[in-house]
Amino acid sequence: MKSPAPASKYFLYARKSTDDAEHQLLSIPAQIDELRTFAEKEGLNIVDTIIESKTAKVPGRELFNQMLDRIEKGEAQGILAWHPDRLARNAVDSGRIVYLLDRNILSDLKFPTFWFQNTPQGLFMLSIAFGQSKYYVDSLSENTKRGLRQKVRRGECAGLAPLGYLNDRLNKKAIIDPKVAPIIKELFEIYSKGNSTFESLSLFLESKGVISRGDIPIHKSRITFILSNPFYCGFFRFNKEIYQGIHQPLITKKLFDEVQAVIKRKTHIYPQKSLDFPFTGLIKCGECGMMVTAEHHIRRYETVNHTVDFIYYRCTRKSKLSSCSQPFIRQEILTAQLNQHIQKVSLSTSDHDWLIKRLEEDRRQQRSEVLVIVQEFKKDLVSINEKLSKLLDSYLDNVVSREDYLIKKENLFSSKKTIEQRINTLEQSPNKWLEPMREFFNTALTADKIASDNINLFQKREFLKKTGSNLILKNRIVDCDLPDQWAALLRRPTSRNLEARAGIEPAQ
Ligand SMILES: [Zn+2]
Repeated sequence: MKSPAPASKYFLYARKSTDDAEHQLLSIPAQIDELRTFAEKEGLNIVDTIIESKTAKVPGRELFNQMLDRIEKGEAQGILAWHPDRLARNAVDSGRIVYLLDRNILSDLKFPTFWFQNTPQGLFMLSIAFGQSKYYVDSLSENTKRGLRQKVRRGECAGLAPLGYLNDRLNKKAIIDPKVAPIIKELFEIYSKGNSTFESLSLFLESKGVISRGDIPIHKSRITFILSNPFYCGFFRFNKEIYQGIHQPLITKKLFDEVQAVIKRKTHIYPQKSLDFPFTGLIKCGECGMMVTAEHHIRRYETVNHTVDFIYYRCTRKSKLSSCSQPFIRQEILTAQLNQHIQKVSLSTSDHDWLIKRLEEDRRQQRSEVLVIVQEFKKDLVSINEKLSKLLDSYLDNVVSREDYLIKKENLFSSKKTIEQRINTLEQSPNKWLEPMREFFNTALTADKIASDNINLFQKREFLKKTGSNLILKNRIVDCDLPDQWAALLRRPTSRNLEARAGIEPAQ
C-alpha cells in the first residue's frame, strides 16, 4: 500500500455554527484560537485561514468549494478543522473529500477532536464522523441523560413508581405494593364496566384508605392519569414514548385496553397514544406528506367461531391541499419491511469487535499525539510559574513598583489560565469523539437482534428513531432514507478487506 506523503501546507477551515443543534460547540474565535495553537504545537504550516458561515448540511458552500479547488491546484495538501462535522455534513461534500484523499491530492486532515489516519479504515471512520455531528452534539448535551437512557433500554422505569408499586431501591426496580395494588386493580375493573365516574372512583379509593397527601381524596385528574398509565400492564412511558418494562404487570393488557376504550367513549378524547401501534407517528405518506397512523380491526369468522385482530396502517389524510389515494398496509407486512431496513445497518459481532479494537488503537494514537502537545503546554506553564516567582522576588526586593507588579502578575495569571484551559480541552477531546462512535457501533450491533425479534415491536420503533431515518410509505412500500453515518456504515468494507488492504493478515 502506498503511504501518503506528509502534507507540507495546510488550510485552516472554521465554520460558524448556523445549525440549531450546534450552538453549544465552540464559538468561532475560540475555534480559530484553539486551531492556531494546535497548528503551532504540531508544527503545521498554515497557508490560509478560511471562515465559512454557511451550514454544512447541504452542499454548495462557496468557500469550502474554493478551498478544495485550491487543493486540487496544489496550494495545500492538508486541512485543519475542529471536527470532521465542521468540514462536511452531507454526502456530496464528504464524498469529495474522501475522493481527494483517495487520490493523495489531499494527504492529511487534522482535528484536535478526532484522530484521522489516511488509511482505508481511517477513511471509513472519517466517513462515519462526517455524519455524526448530531451524535456528537447529543452526547455532549445528553451525557447526564445517558444513564437514564440505558435504564430505559433495560426496561427499568426511571423515576418514582406509580401508586400500587413501591421502589425497590436495592434492585432498582418497581415492585408491587401488596397493600395498594389490589385496590388499583379493582379500580381498573370497576371502571372497565363503563358505569362509574372519576368522582365515584375517588370516593371508592377513599373508602379503601387510598388518599392524597394532606388527607384529601385523590383528585379526578389523577384518577384519569392512573387509568391511562400503561405501567399497570407492564409498559412505561419515557419521553412520550412507550417501552416494555421489566416490572410485574398489575393488570392484563386486555383490561387496560378496555379501560382506554371507556375513557375514550366517556371523555371523547383519545387516550394519549394507543399501545397497540408501535409504528404510528414514525412514517410519512409518500403521496401527501402527512403522518401514517394505525387502525385496529377485528375480523370474526363465524363458521369457526374465531376472531382475528388486524392492525392496518394508513395515511392520516390530514392534508388540506390534496386528497390522498394511498392504500392501507397490514402491520405484519410493514414490520417485515422495517425489519429489512434495520437489518441493513446491522454489524456482525466480529465486525463490531474489530471496529471497537480499531477505535481503541486510534484512541491510543491520538492520545499520544495529544500528550506531546500537552507536554509543550505544561512546559509553558512551568515557565510562567518561574516568571511569577521571579516577579514576586523583584517586587519584594523593591526592584519593581507595586503598580507594575500587579499589572504583570495579572497578565501572567491570565496566560496561565488560558493554557490550563487548553490543556483541559485537549485532554478531554479524545474521549469526546470516542464515546459517540463506540455507542454508534454498539447500536449497530443490536440491529440484528431487534430486526429478528417480532414480539417487542416498540424496540424497532426506538431503533428507527435513534438512527434518525426518514421513512416514507408509498404504494405499500416503505422507503428508508438513512442519515449519513448510517449510510457510511452500509458502504463499509468488511474487516477482512480492511485488514488485507492495510497489509495486515486477517486473524483466523
Ligand atoms: Zn397521504
